[in-house]
Amino acid sequence: MPGQLFNQLTIVGCGLIGSSIVRAARVHGLVGRIVVADPSEFVRARVAELGLADRVTGDISDGVTGSDLVIFAVPVLAMGEAMAAAAGHLAPGAIVSDVGSVKGTVGDALMAHAPDNVFVIPGHPIAGTEHSGPDAGFAELFDGRWTILTPLPNDNPAYAEAVAKLSAFWRGCGAQVEVMDAAHHDLVLAITSHLPHLIAYNIVGTASDLEGVTEGEVMKYSAGGFRDFTRIAASDPTMWRDIFVANKDAVLEVLGRFTEDLQALSRAIRWGEADKLHELFTRTRAIRRGVIALGQESAEPNFGRDRGKH
Ligand code: NAP
Repeated sequence: MPGQLFNQLTIVGCGLIGSSIVRAARVHGLVGRIVVADPSEFVRARVAELGLADRVTGDISDGVTGSDLVIFAVPVLAMGEAMAAAAGHLAPGAIVSDVGSVKGTVGDALMAHAPDNVFVIPGHPIAGTEHSGPDAGFAELFDGRWTILTPLPNDNPAYAEAVAKLSAFWRGCGAQVEVMDAAHHDLVLAITSHLPHLIAYNIVGTASDLEGVTEGEVMKYSAGGFRDFTRIAASDPTMWRDIFVANKDAVLEVLGRFTEDLQALSRAIRWGEADKLHELFTRTRAIRRGVIALGQESAEPNFGRDRGKH
């Protein structure tokens, strides 16, 4: 265990991810003090009742003052505005990061407002659930999961040190850390997370619009496969709206490829090409086994709840 790494952590936006970070940082003794800044009165009241922070404020500029680690955990399209509010009040030398599910446009939005004397290091923990808000967080959320950091081009050795320190923080929270460039992150997440969510939103929408099958029947017989899509399609609408707006190019790229493959499948079904179907289903089964072998399956037996990864 690394012990205390930062004197004061500020989390801006204390929902599922923000509150999980403060819980993990506290449990593992990674920071001296914790400040939460959140514009929502309801969230601030719950953070105070749950005893998650040493100080809670609705004012971002006040909240980031004096912190050597600031993490923005707000919806993707709110990152730039949150950084703009913080910018004039960040301590020189502070590490400033985020947890947004898209990295290219978010990195640009952060940099558009960042002062020169802080270290901006975008990040994304690939861990989550379909629940939102400060009550939904838990300290073990990041255990064994991956956090991807997408450092910006910067030759300064002090920047590399800051990346190493932020990596140590995430490892202290239980995560494994990988570094990659933002464009690659956005392509990988488009296929592993964003497209699966789009498919889930679409199939649940189609089922609810289908003539000849009642909504009651869809729910009653959901164990046939549909219910797994309903869990994903229950994810926060604001968060997912923002992700598709912010990762448009990569999502459209993988969606084009997916549509072609789906059409090929449809053709195989139409022409009774049973071998083709069997070959694909055999290949995909092996991928599922690989996911389980890597300990990244969505059901988390230790905590008795499902975990989606965004
Ligand atoms: P969440 O539970 O809804 O929490 C977001 C928090 O940010 C809420 O307290 C919200 O307050 C607050 N907020 C909203 N707009 C804000 C603004 N303009 N300025 C400051 N605070 C604002 O969401 P979450 O699931 O933790 O997601 C937060 C971030 O983590 C997103 O960028 C998401 O892409 C990323 N992420 C999510 C997951 C996941 O599985 N959920 C996984 C990895 C990364 P209100 O309640 O008043 O809106």
